[in-house]
Amino acid sequence: MTFDALSRDRIETLHAEAEQAYRTLGEAGLTLDLTRGKPSPAQLDLSAGLLSLPGTDFRAADGTDTRNYGGLTGLTELREIFAELLGIPVAQLLAADNASLALMHDTLTFAMLHGTPDSPAPWGAAPVKFICPAPGYDRHFALTEHLGIEMLVVDMLDDGPDLDQVRALVGDPAVKGIWLVPTYANPTGAVVSHEKAAALAALETAAPDFRIYWDNAYAVHHLTDERTTTAEIVGLCASAGNPNRPLVFASTSKITFAGSGVSFLGGSPETIAWYLRHVAFRTIGPDKVNQLRHARFLQDAEGVHRLMDGHRAVLAPKFEATLQILAERLGPHDVATWTRPRGGYFVSLDVPDGTATRVVALAKAAGISLTPAGASFPYGRDPRDRNIRIAPSFPSMTDLTAAMDGLATCVLLAATAQALESGTGRS
Ligand code: PMP
Repeated sequence: MTFDALSRDRIETLHAEAEQAYRTLGEAGLTLDLTRGKPSPAQLDLSAGLLSLPGTDFRAADGTDTRNYGGLTGLTELREIFAELLGIPVAQLLAADNASLALMHDTLTFAMLHGTPDSPAPWGAAPVKFICPAPGYDRHFALTEHLGIEMLVVDMLDDGPDLDQVRALVGDPAVKGIWLVPTYANPTGAVVSHEKAAALAALETAAPDFRIYWDNAYAVHHLTDERTTTAEIVGLCASAGNPNRPLVFASTSKITFAGSGVSFLGGSPETIAWYLRHVAFRTIGPDKVNQLRHARFLQDAEGVHRLMDGHRAVLAPKFEATLQILAERLGPHDVATWTRPRGGYFVSLDVPDGTATRVVALAKAAGISLTPAGASFPYGRDPRDRNIRIAPSFPSMTDLTAAMDGLATCVLLAATAQALESGTGRS
């Protein structure tokens, strides 16, 4: 990924072309946003049926009046659908309110304040560290930092975290857990292999209460015909003799309505009982009316897959357009690499080392908002300053192609400028 093979004249020509393209971009006066992985209005429309449910029939299958207090575990009929999709027994899967991020926050906070069923003391009584495969999800890292937990970076590879790096860290009893997005990871689209999941389930750790925060946010969010399956971490950990190790998170945020969906928490019977014990102080019960309308709307696991096929029809062309522009504009110059995700919500772009911050600043000045460089790394620090997360879902196709084309111009401008500044190229 350098211009080493090019002559200096050639790099100067490319730079002049990029400068001209950047001037034209600025004159277009764009206001475009590639920052967050939000569903587009067309995707939200797929779940319009929810808006008229549950109607006046507000009783759950077991007769529960969903309008009233109570029912901390969530409605069984909805848990059944997601138990099948997530490969977790119904009794070990709770349905909660709209944000799985809140479940991550609460379970971490409970562990900090009270410890887990396997903890000799509350986590917060001593320094706590978490393993953070990177690039990863910025909100995981923000939450971890917010709770005063030190983040230890390991590389996120195509099939999961670098296990050698993980093994080198878990000998420290302060290391209490690891973040993972097992399927179609944010932002790389990586899928944790069964082998790596099994190894993590069986890992010898100094901490008796080591936890895998298994955030399966994109479990059913395929972009191809292939319905990639996620390793069944709950069963793997139980078989390995570490039943309480996994906490599984999921939600319908990118299935139905991002702001009004249902979240899920899975784990061992003991983990579920632990969570319920603590959350009982925080709420009398979740929004069961919302859960009921979701159960009626989705019907069954196949109903979820059908809905996801509808999302794919909207999303896949946007990913194709994104990848095509990267290939056409950047491919010939061998100036960047990027992921080709088979699901999920992001494309992860690596530009030449030391230029990501500059690319994002150039794009911003041209009216294209990108996630800040480094956002996918703990403390916002990308050691190579090269990673940029692209979220193609929300903009219209017209806006997306304009933004991607503009981004490619910014990459070429920053890369050629850096090459010239550093004296790259044959004279
Ligand atoms: N986990 C990951 C990996 C995500 O990418 C997102 C959304 N960007 C979330 C969790 C948020 O989920 P929720 O809406 O259920 O809080």
